[in-house]
Formats: sequence, structure tokens, C-alpha cells
Amino acid sequence: SSDRVFNFAAGPATLPENVLLKAQSELYNWDGSGMSVMEMSHRGKEFMSIIQKAEADLRALLNIPEDYAVLFLQGGATTQFAAIPLNLCKPDDTVDYIVTGSWGDKAYKEAAKYSKPKVIWSGKAEKYTNIPAFDSLEQSPDAKYLHICANETIHGVEFKDYPNPKNPNAILVADMSSNFCSKPVDVTKFGVIYAGAQKNVGPSGVTIVIIKKDLIGNAQPITPVMLDYKIHAENNSLYNTPPCFGIYMCGLVFDDLLAQGGLVEVEKKNKKKAQILYDTIDASNGFFRCPVEKSVRSLMNVPFTLAKSELEAEFIKEAAKEKMVQLKGHRSVGGMRASIYNAMPLAGVEKLVAFMKDFQVSLE
Ligand code: PMP
Repeated sequence: SSDRVFNFAAGPATLPENVLLKAQSELYNWDGSGMSVMEMSHRGKEFMSIIQKAEADLRALLNIPEDYAVLFLQGGATTQFAAIPLNLCKPDDTVDYIVTGSWGDKAYKEAAKYSKPKVIWSGKAEKYTNIPAFDSLEQSPDAKYLHICANETIHGVEFKDYPNPKNPNAILVADMSSNFCSKPVDVTKFGVIYAGAQKNVGPSGVTIVIIKKDLIGNAQPITPVMLDYKIHAENNSLYNTPPCFGIYMCGLVFDDLLAQGGLVEVEKKNKKKAQILYDTIDASNGFFRCPVEKSVRSLMNVPFTLAKSELEAEFIKEAAKEKMVQLKGHRSVGGMRASIYNAMPLAGVEKLVAFMKDFQVSLE
């Protein structure tokens, strides 16, 4: 509606309007319970029905098989950077990391406290604009897992396909924080998928972990109880007080994604939005520029710069006047970044590209 902006923030990010309105309508009195979701016991029948439906809907969306557990946790994806090695390997085990951006790098650095991680490929020298050819990777023969960041939020680099770990006993682990539920994914290719909710599926405060059940139960003895997947799996994410309201919001988003026809339909919309934005950048004769190699450009986070970089602040300021906000690039890379997650309507991207064209014309 007219009192809302188009919010291109990288996360927390825009949420679907109908989800916000539904939450508003249920805020004061959820389903006739006489209380809001924030006031409910997490062990009462009302909240149990909420978390169970959220899990069932997520399983339907991603086609998650029964031999995978779905956990609703706290601490953000950053906590998972430690939980992954703590749960999946011993302190002396080798684990492989492909580093395609800042988040993969952070995951690798945290893993060094609890395992022996090896960066088998880094895009740092090319300023994180690419993804390696999988057959060129020199994987460690004994690695316990291979870790990737499926979509680098800051650099706008996204895996379109996934590498197989070389060691037949190793598993693929993916940080999907910024492209979670943006397209169909074959969950069975992964041992663990994890994601913070605050980009595509809800508010911050909820972290979702999807893990093959036979990987659970091997945590290192020093693992804090809150990071032990076994504890959370045995207790259906209710070992301690979970982020109840956040889980409820995620549930509303999952319901909405199913109502849209599921992730096949959602991906179609995301591809269309990304295409009109990248096309505008590429057709600008170098006025706008996206540094990322075309075949791995993210459908979710679109970084771009102006050839005349001194005009970037003006671009961001003028866009904000037209209710398009949070277009500033990450402080580590500069320029602009448009995050166009599931909940960004096509109209928002259309407005942005019209603005970009006008901005260029006004200066040429
Ligand atoms: N991984 C990726 C890909 C991210 O985009 C982010 C947050 N922007 C994180 C990890 C860290 O997530 P959190 O802030 O939830 O810990």
C-alpha cells in the first residue's frame, strides 16, 4: 500500500504484505485463544500446533524427506558456523571450505576453533565475483564435509549447481541464509542446510537447520548444550524456550509460499525480477556495472556500481525520496546493492529499473 516503501535491505528484509496483515489481525487474540502468540506457553497446545504446522509446511515446500530433521534454533547463521564443526567432526578432522565471499570466510574462520578447516578455493583475489569449476577443486581425500555458502549476500554470487564431496563418506553443508526457499533445492544432496530466517522467511531470531538424521549424535564433548543438534532434535526444537513469535511468522510465510504454488512458482518470479534488473545494468553501456560473472549472478542480491562513483550517494538519496530504500552496498564493497528476496514485488523492481534509466538519461 502507499504508506509502505520498497525496501531493498539485505536482511532483516521486506516481508510479504499479506503476511504482515495476517499477523496484525491475529496479534491481539490468536485464533480465539484470548492471547497473542508472544504470550503463549511454548509447551501449550496452541503453540504446538503453530510449530508443527510450520515444520510440515517447510517440509512440503522443500520436499524434505523423513530421514532429515528440521530444527528451529536461535543464534543466527553465525552460531551455526561453530555448531557445524562441533557436531560433525572431531578437533583433528580435516574439513573443506569453498570461500566465495565474506560469509564463507567467516564460517571457515570459526571452524578453525573446532576442527582443521582447509580453504580449497577462494575467490578473494578476484574480489569474490566467481564460483570455481567443480572438477578443478582439490578436495581433501579425508575431509569430513565440504562447506559452501550457497548465496553470498554481500557479493551477490550464487551457486546454480552444487559440488559433490570427493570423499564418499563426506557430506555437503550449505549456508543458505540468503537464498533459502527462493527456489526448489534437492535436499538429499546435502547433509546439512542452515539459514537465518531474516531474509526470505521471517524475522531475525530464528535459524533453521535441516540435517540428515544419521549425522546427529556425534557432537564434540565441549559442545554447549544449545549447539548440540541431538538435544534439539530429541526435543523437537523445544529443549528451551524457542523464538516463538519468529517461528509463528516463518509459518505464515511458508503458508504464503505454498499458496503461491510452491517454490517452482516462486523461482519463476525471482528469475523475472532478477532478469529485468541485470538487463538494465547490462544495457546501460557501462553507466551501471555488476562485477559478478554472469553465470553465477545471484537472484537475491544484486550489487552494482556507477562508472561515475561520485554519483552513488546521489543515486541512493534520490531513490530514497521515491520510497526505494536501503540500496547502499555493504560497507566492505561500496556501490549499491538491491536485495530482491521473495517478498520484493515485481512492481518494486520495475520501479527501481525505471528510476535507474531516468537517472542515467538525466546525466547523459
Ligand atoms: N550467512 C549469510 C549468507 C548471511 O547473509 C548472513 C547475514 N547477513 C549470515 C550468514 C549471518 O547471519 P546472522 O546475522 O543471522 O548470524
